[in-house]
This record gives sequence, structure tokens and C-alpha cells, in this order.
Amino acid sequence: MISKVDLPADARLETLAVREGLPPSQWGENSEALYLTSSFVHPDAATAARRFANEEEAFVYSRFSNPTVTMMERRLAALEGTSGCIATSSGMSAILITIMSLLKAGDHVVCSQGVFGSTIKLFQDFAKFGIETSFVSQTDPGEWHTAMRPNTRLLFAETPNNPLTEVCDIAALADIAHAGGALLLVDNCFCSPALQQPVKFGADLVMHSGTKYLDGQGRVIAGALCGPAELIDAKFVPTMRSAGMTLSPFNAWVVLKGMETLAIRLKAQSERALEMAHWLEAQPAVERVYYPGLESHPQHKLAMAQQSGIGGAVVSFTVRGERAGAWAVVDGTRICSITANLGDTKTTITHPATTSHGRLSEAQRQAAGITQGVLRLAVGLEDVEDLKADLARGFATLS
Ligand SMILES: *Cc1c(COP(=O)(O)O)cnc(C)c1O
Repeated sequence: MISKVDLPADARLETLAVREGLPPSQWGENSEALYLTSSFVHPDAATAARRFANEEEAFVYSRFSNPTVTMMERRLAALEGTSGCIATSSGMSAILITIMSLLKAGDHVVCSQGVFGSTIKLFQDFAKFGIETSFVSQTDPGEWHTAMRPNTRLLFAETPNNPLTEVCDIAALADIAHAGGALLLVDNCFCSPALQQPVKFGADLVMHSGTKYLDGQGRVIAGALCGPAELIDAKFVPTMRSAGMTLSPFNAWVVLKGMETLAIRLKAQSERALEMAHWLEAQPAVERVYYPGLESHPQHKLAMAQQSGIGGAVVSFTVRGERAGAWAVVDGTRICSITANLGDTKTTITHPATTSHGRLSEAQRQAAGITQGVLRLAVGLEDVEDLKADLARGFATLS
């Protein structure tokens, strides 16, 4: 039996983020230990046999069980309000293990057309194994309903999405999924459980790129899938055991410690993002601002209801002057990092049309609203006045 941390049953999110995991080892360490070991030793042959046959719970082999990884899984499950979690080597492999564990040839998936680009690519790749995906509107639940088929097994949503921060109605999609006997999975990367817990609105599964806000300092690639423990034990753990999209103990430890500051980081970064969004709305060089915390956002009310009244830390905006204008703003920065990663304490700026969304055709980009003038700012923890000055340099050239 793998023991539990003794916490009050009503311990709240910020307490769980610091305390949930495993009890300390016999040495009583206060900071969680990093167990860099590929395998675990058994006292005798009969015990080893019971553990390999899953008759006795114990750590066996780090492809599918390791104490540091278990601590990260328990902590994230506690934050998401799910009974189970399985850590994966990246956000993308959290989707891969979901497809491999839950779907088979002949099954159908409904997915927003506005999700992360590699997510769309991965679902498209599974067409060759007989799993078909319909891509539908990010914001119109009616399209999801129409796309349902008798063989639909999974609905996949990401909210808010990248880069225009469009919001899905999680409760409406959960109803559609459950009426059709399917599960709803939400990619909760942009909000993290500090702002949004999709299971509260009826989602069955929640995935993370731990690379983003969970680590929070841009250090590791990591992922996780949260959901009911029985489903994870029955379907996902066997896939992990045979396919091995394992999170390394070191990366799990970095994410585990990152989660301790998740809520305060995300709230502080979101406050800065809201201030930047208001400031951007007042800039003559800016044509439009996309931020769920602004009343001008088309799904502002829904976003506030789902995201604890907070808009998140990602702000996008369109500048005058198309690509040349956008590039001038990027090139005028001296503080922002020019990189497509997000969720870092360092503010990052990116031009989606020529980076993250560069592989789409111009027509696809126009349909998605990602024009050449759009820039995405993932706001970090710098002083907000320095960030304004950093963008103002480029704006001054666009008058
Ligand atoms: C980054 C990202 C992913 C993929 O995660 P990796 O850790 O890079 O594999 C999935 N979804 C969203 C929304 C992301 O931002």
C-alpha cells in the first residue's frame, strides 16, 4: 500500500498545491525527494511476483511508477478535483495516451478547430488507424451537437484558446458529450486549476501541458491527464506500462515544486495581463485587443463564470500595419522574449501568423482570425510599466 499525506478533508487549493503528494521518507525531508532510480527492490521473490501482478501496490519500475512522479500526479489531481492523474512526458503525449487508451478503429472524435496546432495534427494522424475526427467551431455548441454520431466517443476542447483567447462553454459541451455517451476532455493549459477546474462544469478528463503554467518557469517539457482513478487505473496505466510515454522523475520534481507557487503566479500574472489589456485598448497603434477579462471580449461573461472571474495571463492584440507593423513591435522590444512558449515568469511575445500558425494557409488563418497584424503576449512577472514601455517603443513607429 502506498500511503497518503494526512491532510484535512476540506483542505483548499492553495494548501493542496503545497502539501499534497506522498508522506516523507524515513528521513523526514521537508522538501519532496527526487527519486532518480529506474527500478525498485523487493524483499523476496513472492513479493516481487505479487507486485508485478498488481496484487500489491508498490513502486516497481519507473516507466510506470515512481514516488516523485506519484507526488506530482497526486498534487495535480487534488488541484483539478479529480480522483486520478497520470503524468506524461509532454502535453502532446497526454493526448496520445488518451487516444491509445480510450479509442479504437471505427470511433469518432469531435474537436474544436481552434485547439493547439499539434493537437489538430495528432488527431488527423489517427485517421490512418481508423479514428476519425470532426473539427467544429470553438464557440458554437450547436456545431458540436450537429457533429455527434452514434460512434462518437470523445469531445476535445481547449479554453481559452491560442492566440485569440476564444472561450468554450464547458457545461454545454459536457451535456452534449454525455447525451451521446461520450466523454468530454478539456485542455486546461491556459487557465490551470488555479483559475478553472473543468470537472466542476461537467468535464470528464482534463489534460495539461506541464511545460506551461504548472512548471511556470520555462524549464521542462511535461504533461498530465487527470480523471477518475478507476478509468486511469483500468485504461491508462496499462497503456503507460506498454508504451512508456513516461515523465522523468526529474521533470516531475520540477513541476511538483512549480505547482507550489502556481496560484500566486497566475493571479499576479493575470493582474498584469488585465492592466496591459486596458492599456493596449487605449493605444492608437492597436486596432483590437483579445482578452477574456475585458468587457469587449465576446464571451466575457462565460469566461468570468468559468475562470474564477480572472482573464488569465495571455493577451493578444492586432496592431496597425499588418505584418510589418507587428514585426516592428516585436523587434522594438528589449525585455520580452521573442519565443512561442508561454506560462513563464518571463513575458513572451510571438507573431502567430509566421510562427505557431505559420503552417496554416493564409485562407485558414483568415478563417481563424489570425491575421498578419496579430501579436500574442504571455505576460510574466516583470514590472508592468517596463512591459508597457517595451511595447510603446514599437508602437511609436506605427503612427
Ligand atoms: C503547449 C501546449 C500543448 C502541448 O504541450 P507540450 O508540453 O508542448 O507537448 C497542448 N495544448 C496547449 C494549449 C498548449 O499550449
